[in-house]
Parts: sequence; C-alpha cells; structure tokens
Amino acid sequence: MEDCLFCKIANGRIPGTIVYNEKGVVAFKDLHPAAPHHILIIPEKHIASAVELTAEDGPLLGELFAASVKIAQDLGLAEPERGYRLVTNIGPDAGQSVQHLHFHLLGGRPLGWPPG
Ligand code: 5GP
Ligand code: ZN
Repeated sequence: MEDCLFCKIANGRIPGTIVYNEKGVVAFKDLHPAAPHHILIIPEKHIASAVELTAEDGPLLGELFAASVKIAQDLGLAEPERGYRLVTNIGPDAGQSVQHLHFHLLGGRPLGWPPG
C-alpha cells in the first residue's frame, strides 16, 4: 500500500534490519526497542490491524506464528527457562501507531504484567 511505513520496509523502499523474510512474512528489528530483543513480525500483504482478520487468514496467521517461533529460537528465547511476549496493538486505546498488522516479539528481560 502506498504511504504505509511497514509496506515500504517489507518491499525494501525504506531500510530496516530484516531478520526473517519467508512465505509472505517479514520480520525486522524495532527502531525504538522496548526490550533487549524487540522484533516486529508483519504480513507482506497490507492488513491494517488484527480487527480486519477473518477465518480465511488462518494460513497467514499460521505463518506469522511459525515465524515468531523460529525467531524466538534463533534468539535463545524459546528455552524453557527464558520466555518472551507476542503482542499486537489494535486501535488508539491500545496505542497502535502504525496501521499495518504487526506482532511485537519482546524478550531478553522479565516483562511486567499487566502491560500499560
Ligand atoms: P505500535 O505502536 O503500532 O504497536 O508499534 C509500532 C512500532 O513500530 C513501535 O514499536 C515503533 O518503535 C516501531 N517503528 C516506528 N517507526 C519505525 C521505523 O521506521 N522502523 C522500524 N524498524 N520500526 C519503527
Ligand atoms: Zn502496509
């Protein structure tokens, strides 16, 4: 989509530190990390947020979650004594600032609960 920051990162028009690019899923480092490891996982296809998802997006969601597992394993976060958080913000109350579906993968320190 024109004028979408994450579409531009996914198609290389804006630089990003890409750590995964397979099967319609792109993942890259967050520019302002909120934890020692902070990766954004997005579909290549433009979807504004999780509120637009339907059952037909099941295969795509499977690929997004498979990517998250691979990335967590690569970072050592999938070990039983470690751990990480996957979160997606939807709309203004949740603080969504980029209108392209993304999952934050956060890890590398104990994460407080509840968030915000
Ligand atoms: P949201 O607030 O929508 O849940 O998350 C958007 C995320 O995108 C934020 O964590 C923010 O730091 C990150 N971000 C904003 N602009 C850029 C950018 O140009 N490049 C990268 N890699 N991340 C960005
Ligand atoms: Zn987009």
